[in-house]
Amino acid sequence: MSAAHFVFRGRLNDFLQRHQRDREIVVHFRGRQSIKHLAESLGVPHPEIGRIQVNGGDETLGRIAQDGDRVEIHPIEDGCTVEPRFLLDCHLGRLTAHLRMLGFDCLYQNDYEDTQMAEILQREGRILLTRDRRLLMRKVVQHGYCLRSLEPLEQLTEVIQRFNLADKFHPFHRCLRCNHPLEPVDKSAILDRLEPLTKKYFDEFHLCPACGQVYWKGSHYERMQKVIEEVAK
Ligand SMILES: [Zn+2]
Repeated sequence: MSAAHFVFRGRLNDFLQRHQRDREIVVHFRGRQSIKHLAESLGVPHPEIGRIQVNGGDETLGRIAQDGDRVEIHPIEDGCTVEPRFLLDCHLGRLTAHLRMLGFDCLYQNDYEDTQMAEILQREGRILLTRDRRLLMRKVVQHGYCLRSLEPLEQLTEVIQRFNLADKFHPFHRCLRCNHPLEPVDKSAILDRLEPLTKKYFDEFHLCPACGQVYWKGSHYERMQKVIEEVAK
C-alpha cells in the first residue's frame, strides 16, 4: 500500500470533511492512481482544481501518484477561459432566471437526464453549474462550478465572482422563459396583446421570437435592477 499526503487550499476546503480542512490528509492507495482520482475520492471535483504542486514542482491532474508524494492543490483562479455560456442542473431554475436577466446564455430544463446533460456539454462546451459535486466529477465536464449557497441571489453572486462576469452584463437581451435573444418590437405590432395600463404607460417593447413572450420596462425591469444592485454590493 502506498501513501500520499494532500493539502487543499482556499475554497477547496469546502468539499472536505470538517476534520480534514486546512491540514495534511494522508491518502492510502494501491496501484496506478492519478492525482485527479485521489482528489475526487476525497470529494474535490476536478473542475474546481487549479494549480497542483507535487513535491514542490508543478504537475497536472493526470500525474500518477507515487508513494510519499506531497501534493498541494489550489482552487482554480477566478475568471473565464471560455465563453460564459452555462448549463444548469434541474434544481437551479431561479438562478437560471437571474442569469438570463443579466443576459447570459443558460440552458435549463427541470427534467434533464444525466445523459442529456453530458451530450450538451460535449457538443457545446458549456460551463456546468450544479450543487451536485458527483455531476461535476464526470469526465465529460471540462468547465464547471459547484454552488455553495442554496439561496439564488447568493448563487448568482458566486457565479459572477467565480467567472468574472461583472463587466459582461447585458440586461434585457434574453428571454427569461426560453433563453432566446430578444428583439425590439414596435408597440403597434403587439398592441392587442397589452393590458390597458401597460398600453398606457409603456412605449418600448421587446419580443422573444422563439416563444412570443413580450417584455417591457415594467415589473421585469424593476426586478432586474434590484438584482443588479443586490449583486453589485
Ligand atoms: Zn422566449
